[in-house]
Amino acid sequence: MESRVSIVRDSDIERRVLEAVRLLGGVERVVGKGDRVLIKPNMVGGFPPETGETTHPEVVKTLVELAYEAGAKEVLVGDGVPEVPVDTVRRRFVRRPVPPISGTLHGLYRKKIEKAGGKLIDLDRWTEVEVPNPVRYEKVRVARAILDCDVLIGAPTLKTHHLVGITVALKNLYGAIPPKDRRLYHDLDGVEEVIVDINQVRTSDMVVVDGTYTTLHWGMIDQYMERSRLDLTIAGYDPVAVDSVSAKLLGIDPKTLRFLSWAEERGLGKMDQRLIETVGVPVGDVHPEGVMTVIDYMNKRLSRIRLVSCGACTGCFGRVATSLFRRDDSQMRDDVYIVMGPDAKPIESAKKENVILCGNCAAPTFYNRLKGAFIPGCPPNLDILIERLKEMNLKV
Ligand code: SF4
Repeated sequence: MESRVSIVRDSDIERRVLEAVRLLGGVERVVGKGDRVLIKPNMVGGFPPETGETTHPEVVKTLVELAYEAGAKEVLVGDGVPEVPVDTVRRRFVRRPVPPISGTLHGLYRKKIEKAGGKLIDLDRWTEVEVPNPVRYEKVRVARAILDCDVLIGAPTLKTHHLVGITVALKNLYGAIPPKDRRLYHDLDGVEEVIVDINQVRTSDMVVVDGTYTTLHWGMIDQYMERSRLDLTIAGYDPVAVDSVSAKLLGIDPKTLRFLSWAEERGLGKMDQRLIETVGVPVGDVHPEGVMTVIDYMNKRLSRIRLVSCGACTGCFGRVATSLFRRDDSQMRDDVYIVMGPDAKPIESAKKENVILCGNCAAPTFYNRLKGAFIPGCPPNLDILIERLKEMNLKV
């Protein structure tokens, strides 16, 4: 698998997608004559594309045309999202006004895709498949359509995610499992693990990321989010490399994303930036406005708790930050420091009783000078952490 990733900036979506795919080496590298192609966009919640939550239909339409030009017999477009009336979307999207669209996101897609000869389908028929060398789940249920196609093209959006760090190439296939299972994996705290397990069953042959906007959401969708316009397309044949470059663009160190390390270990692609060739706009030239990590975001919102990540991975920083959403720390007696990660350093200015060392990486040892209460585990036990914070007057 080639780990080249192209990055193109242009306000004209069609021209941008065509250029990103051309720089990469073309759709014909994966689509052959007579192939059945499935394009999997991100249509989460049925939000209009201007929210940055969903893939712009123009991106998908361009990919449909490219697949036919490369000789595809049939091009389907599908996500596991029910058709939602715009009024419902408006009600859910309370903190940000939803730009007006008439009808539904599905309607917008149909109009564009059918004109290009494609067909919009629902991913609503499932099959259980064994996972080779699973991270956690030996079997997963996935949409039949992702197994039946000859070529799978992922068309996600460019977004951060409070729990797993980013939601781009690999996480896009979380939409190809039953909605009930998605809720279950959240409840089991197994989202990062199952992302890799799904991709082991079937991963994308090519990924074209819609970065018209980026949405930075830290918390549940439609609650804590910012959106900025980037006019980017990011494309690659290696989904791990695409995620690695996307993380970098979003100001997140790819090495801190647990699912990406697990995916690389299982041969799904390369995350090491030294092994990825990027073409087009240099990564350093993209400066998404308002980009911040979930740690920065939570430190802005919290009053007395300070999260200190010293090279921590999502197992610590994503889960700890998520566990503190909707908590009120304003009544806590003192500033409390939660220190995570393998490079944990002492907080000289804080009293020992106000420091919590979280996760095995930050364990106090004979060799380091770390002082504070210790929450063990890799990842750490969040129930113990929250109990400890409650004793210090955290309101739940
Ligand atoms: S303790 Fe485990 S989960 Fe936490 S930063 Fe270290 S490796 Fe990651």
